[in-house]
Amino acid sequence: MDPRDRMEIVQGDITTLHVDAIVNAANESLLGGGGVDGAIHRAAGPELLAESRAIGGCPTGEARITKGYRLHARWVIHTVGPVWQGGRSHEDELLAGCYANSLTLAREYDVRTIAFPAVSAGVYGFPMERAARIAIKETKRFLDDSELPEKVAFVCFSRRAEDIYQQAMDEVFN
Ligand code: ADP
Repeated sequence: MDPRDRMEIVQGDITTLHVDAIVNAANESLLGGGGVDGAIHRAAGPELLAESRAIGGCPTGEARITKGYRLHARWVIHTVGPVWQGGRSHEDELLAGCYANSLTLAREYDVRTIAFPAVSAGVYGFPMERAARIAIKETKRFLDDSELPEKVAFVCFSRRAEDIYQQAMDEVFN
């Protein structure tokens, strides 16, 4: 199937989705935080923190996997996006790494359906347009060479984010 038909934009709360894996925009400690990270920990329950603590952290641009516990999702893939520092501190490459490494891990665990939040585009300050373009470009590149995951959802928390992702999709595929 064409990568475009395997990627979709959805608006809503990532913690409610029925997918094999959801991605968490974590921080290097993996000990939880605000934003989507806090929401995922609240929804998954305290076992998620216990398993995350045992992992012992994750460098920026990389990804780690845990179980999903009380979530519908079987797995949580924790990736650490870069903090935006103006664009000249390898932020683009690090964010691209988040997507590539998360998708690689997903494939290793036979994940068929996965959902990403807008990693780094909240408290970490990455401009949403630029983050969305990287997310879509990097995911397309991965899906071009891989049958798994079968479906990738980009979860937008606001209508504004949804519009930006839609535009990024048009740019990357046209
Ligand atoms: P970061 O620290 O990587 O910037 P944030 O959690 O602050 O991560 O924000 C990342 C994106 O996730 C933002 O666009 C934010 O609006 C969005 N977000 C926050 N909560 C949720 C949620 N429950 N589901 C999906 N997206 C969410």
